[in-house]
Amino acid sequence: MTEVRNKGDTQPWSLRRRKHELTALERTESLFALSNGHIGIRGTLEEGEPRALPGTYLNGFHEQHPLPYAETGYGDPEDGQTMVNATDGKIIRLLVEDEPFDVRYGETTSHERVLDFRAGTLTRSTEWISPTGRRVLVRSQRLVSFTQRAVMALRYEVWPLDADMQLVVQSDLLANEPIAPQSNDPRVSMALDAPLVAEFADAREYHAVLNHRTRNSRLRMAAAMDHRIETPHGLRTDISAETDLARLSLAVDVPCGERLCVTKYVGYGWSARRSAPALRAQVDAALAGALQTGWEGLLEEQRDYLAEFWSAADIELHGDAELQQAVRFALFHVLQAGARGESRAIPGKGLTGPGYEGHAFWDTETFVLPVLTYTMPDAARDALRWRYSTLDKARQRARLLGQRGAAFPWRSIDGAECSAYWPAGTAAFHVSADVADAVSRYFAASGDSRFDVEYGTEILVETARLWHSLGHYDSEGNYRIDGVTGPDEYTAVADNNAYTNLMAQRNLREAARACARNPSVAGMLGVEVQEPEAWHEAADHMFVPFDEAIGVHQQSSEFTTHAEWGFDETGESDYPLLLHYPYFDLYRKQVVKQADLVLAMYLRGDAFDARQKEDNFIYYEARTVRDSSLSAAPQAVLAAETGFLDLAYDYFAEACLTDLHDLHDNVSQGVHIGSLAGAWTSAVAGFGGMRDHDGYLSFAPRLPSALEQLTFRLRMRESLVEVQITPDWATYRLLSGQPLELAHYGDPIVVTPDEAVSKPVPLSGSARPEPEQPSGRRPRRRTP
Ligand code: BGC
Repeated sequence: MTEVRNKGDTQPWSLRRRKHELTALERTESLFALSNGHIGIRGTLEEGEPRALPGTYLNGFHEQHPLPYAETGYGDPEDGQTMVNATDGKIIRLLVEDEPFDVRYGETTSHERVLDFRAGTLTRSTEWISPTGRRVLVRSQRLVSFTQRAVMALRYEVWPLDADMQLVVQSDLLANEPIAPQSNDPRVSMALDAPLVAEFADAREYHAVLNHRTRNSRLRMAAAMDHRIETPHGLRTDISAETDLARLSLAVDVPCGERLCVTKYVGYGWSARRSAPALRAQVDAALAGALQTGWEGLLEEQRDYLAEFWSAADIELHGDAELQQAVRFALFHVLQAGARGESRAIPGKGLTGPGYEGHAFWDTETFVLPVLTYTMPDAARDALRWRYSTLDKARQRARLLGQRGAAFPWRSIDGAECSAYWPAGTAAFHVSADVADAVSRYFAASGDSRFDVEYGTEILVETARLWHSLGHYDSEGNYRIDGVTGPDEYTAVADNNAYTNLMAQRNLREAARACARNPSVAGMLGVEVQEPEAWHEAADHMFVPFDEAIGVHQQSSEFTTHAEWGFDETGESDYPLLLHYPYFDLYRKQVVKQADLVLAMYLRGDAFDARQKEDNFIYYEARTVRDSSLSAAPQAVLAAETGFLDLAYDYFAEACLTDLHDLHDNVSQGVHIGSLAGAWTSAVAGFGGMRDHDGYLSFAPRLPSALEQLTFRLRMRESLVEVQITPDWATYRLLSGQPLELAHYGDPIVVTPDEAVSKPVPLSGSARPEPEQPSGRRPRRRTP
């Protein structure tokens, strides 16, 4: 892993980058991306250039293309989906006298951009001297509104510094912006080259609109812009719109020290069903609303929305200023990814970049939704409603594969399977149990019985049916699930992946419970009495492989008998292994890409005793290479639980810093939302030891030596609880809502509005030596 340290400062509530960012724009474009889960814009500079990868993304707006296969097989998905770079509305170009404002020319005497986690804005301030010596100060501020979800707004201000100047500003809507090809497959590149077909363009006064559609996926979009302009002197403006470009140009003479201020409002709409006029009306209406609220109003709404979010989501750390900033950065991006997606997916990169083609994975349910469930439960519910909306496609997929129930896709935008690689795609059936797990967790934590009746039960039943048709009993009466891929993608199509079997076991039981809770829903789904009985039976006999000889669980049957990987002969530059070794060799050896059994020990901790957890953790640590950013957080949780607190801290730091330090050398493609969500999990489930047993929260707090104090909050049904941990004490407070029973190291406590409960934190370090990782794969020792 390459570590690139950006020498930004470590403000607790913002991320700042100065002049040096201009040499690493591909990274900051992702870090500074703004999104509300509905629309997302990368952090490109307003003037459009220099840039690495401009991007404007509308959740679900994608193009379809044939999937490349050398040899096809039955059941292979035919079409892929790729998120489209939509019409760019953030471009504002500036001419200073007759020279384009461009930081690659002249001299940039100062430059700073700040992402503010409480304001929800990206601000920028650049002082620039043109090649012919004209000095200007440019400031901008932009937001993607959390409250008006179709709206992005931007304020752009220019001050001539040493002399009066003529300024020309061009504010654009630009479609089919040229970007580097995103695929080596010419058919895919062709589908994504200029993917937008113009349908309609119009402009008047300060307002313009462009309508487009995609060729194959037949989606339509509209983007509209409007402006408010403040300037002390006469203004000349012109507006035009043609197929792929709408432009407002304004020219004005600005005296030295005065300012030109342009406020730009951009509205987006897209749909598979609505007509072009309907979409145009929709974006005009979005703009009318934004203009009525006004710039200051949008800023205020944004702050209020974030204040509400932070009141439940903030994690406060004493003792490590950099991680304090990083964990808030992480939570800010998790919020941006999930806040207003509503009935759409939360992609692996959120809406921050083109990585993974904009697909959503199990990352959503297993890593992101636990965070949202306890901090913004409505957002968790909406993401699950998106899964529900794809249930028919999942049913068809299961049928095509000869199974019953529903098989959710490994990767997708609209619910159809888009993975062209069976072993690390469809065979990763665990995604269906992950969805079911998120459903059960959300229901237990929220008590939302309407969701349970309308959506949850049906998802649980259909996924349970999948497990009941995928598995079988062996001659000894064990229920086995063979030929599947677990979370570790360096072992594929294996028998009895322990993670899969344990998650399926829970899925089967939860489905039976849901049917008992909602008999009429069960009736509508054709569930007869025998079906839940059969699910229980299979769950009770679920096989979880264990190697008696060495006393550890097997990640999947036979795993511990495979050859060891030659870690000592593997150099640092050979990672990630999948880019340097053939899959067949990875598959047949004991090398683990990412937490698999270790994740099972967190999510199904009830299935292991303390000794097994410790032994298993030590065994799998020595074989896990963390070639996926989803690994560090579960490793942090188990390291904490087994008493290796400083190691847990190292993993926590890795999860927090994945993007800020570009640890996987690909942040240019977007931030890793699952890993960022894992930062929360490492703190709350790792150092807080939080586990949720069916809506009953238990804690086992323990701090690593680097931390003096850790505070976090959780929403549980109508209550908001705060947990504050110091090395010796844990204090539980009810901040709002009804009294709640919790457990501290197994002892029940009740938090009430009147008094906080403080309990001593027992010493919990392990007596055993810290586990070892494969050579060169130890996480960086965190020294704050
Ligand atoms: C990981 C998967 C993950 C995907 C998207 C892969 O590298 O192995 O578990 O779902 O990335 O984040």
